[in-house]
Amino acid sequence: MAGKDLVPSNGKLMNHFLPLGKFSFGLGDRFGQQGRAQLRACIRAAELGAHFVPVWNKSNREHTFIGTEPSGLRSEADAAVQALGWKDSYHVDADHIRLETVDRFIAPSDFFTIDVADSIGRSASAAGIREFSDRHPELIGTISIPHIEPPFAITRIEVERVANKFLLAVQDAGKIYRHITQAKGAENFITEVSMDETDSPQTPPELLIILTALADEQIPLQTIAPKFTGRFNKGVDYAGDVKQFEKEFNEDLAVIAFAIKKYGLPPSLKLSVHSGSDKFSIYKPMRRALLKFDAGVHIKTAGTTWLEEIIGLAEAGGDGLEIAKEIYAGAIRQVDEFCTPYASVIEIDKTKLPSAATVNGWSSQQFVSALRHDQKHPAYNPNFRQLLHVSFKIAAKMGDRYLNALKKHEAVVAKNVTENLFERHMKPLLLGK
Ligand SMILES: [Zn+2]
Repeated sequence: MAGKDLVPSNGKLMNHFLPLGKFSFGLGDRFGQQGRAQLRACIRAAELGAHFVPVWNKSNREHTFIGTEPSGLRSEADAAVQALGWKDSYHVDADHIRLETVDRFIAPSDFFTIDVADSIGRSASAAGIREFSDRHPELIGTISIPHIEPPFAITRIEVERVANKFLLAVQDAGKIYRHITQAKGAENFITEVSMDETDSPQTPPELLIILTALADEQIPLQTIAPKFTGRFNKGVDYAGDVKQFEKEFNEDLAVIAFAIKKYGLPPSLKLSVHSGSDKFSIYKPMRRALLKFDAGVHIKTAGTTWLEEIIGLAEAGGDGLEIAKEIYAGAIRQVDEFCTPYASVIEIDKTKLPSAATVNGWSSQQFVSALRHDQKHPAYNPNFRQLLHVSFKIAAKMGDRYLNALKKHEAVVAKNVTENLFERHMKPLLLGK
């Protein structure tokens, strides 16, 4: 800070929370069958010296679509941990919850992703915004943060604009956090705040102001999921300016390190990258930045495991391949219905989608090559992959038929699930390979 001292508004450290390890990996598993295969990826990473804390996550929306309960996710995680003898920590994440939806998650979860995206852009009271800006004169002017060049230059008008956009969302996060605390005890859970499902990305100076407000709310935040620049489409690579992403990711890490010291936020606070699977072109820049700042990260994934189930079934051939083809046929029939709700997180060129008849004629090999995320393979089709990503409701409707096929072909499905997480995700992120 140029000339002024930053004083934590609350004057004390927030130290009642369940600590989260430095590197953690969110494992979404729509149908609840791949817990062991997912944990095996963490075990393989640990054998190479890369420790990821497994966090099984499932959103309220997913539970509703599939017809599952949060307690089922806890059972799955506990069973996987017991079966494989995992001795380190692991968690169960109530993903994207709000005040109206949190209650059934409270007992089985020990990680809560408080989603305040719906409140972003709705104004807090004028008095609240004025008070916030009055309370934080240190946010106004030239703010020198190590590794950020040039320093941020923030006017009072800018602080008020950001507060106007985010303060209500932060206050909502506080309400939800206190609700969980009352029911569960602050020391028994991890808090994440997510802002990723919104229209525009948050810039690093905005992140600083948001973290200041979250500290004011006394939320012992350990992960924050901003919306980053560029597109994080489901199950496919990052689409955007990698250089700009790298610059902002570095600045976000610098802002977080600064906010931890200045505002007494937990030292374990780190970024959470939602739709973090399959973003191969930014893993190297992320890894460079994490090493530079000695920072941790949380990578949240979900649909990538569901796609590996289809790949495994297709690879198994016979009735497995038949189910995979049937899911695609259903997906192409209802393409608009499935894609519309996900418009901001998929980019499908419909002219490049094969017809159901074409796919019906495919061999196991052809189906797998089109779907598996191997960008170097000439048959890889990101349009095909994204459509299947959003079409899991078809498998949910199949019910036992789908689940029984997963069980029957467990070996080949599990191998694909583990390899995808370990080879394509954990290795490049933590081992740089
Ligand atoms: Zn998210």
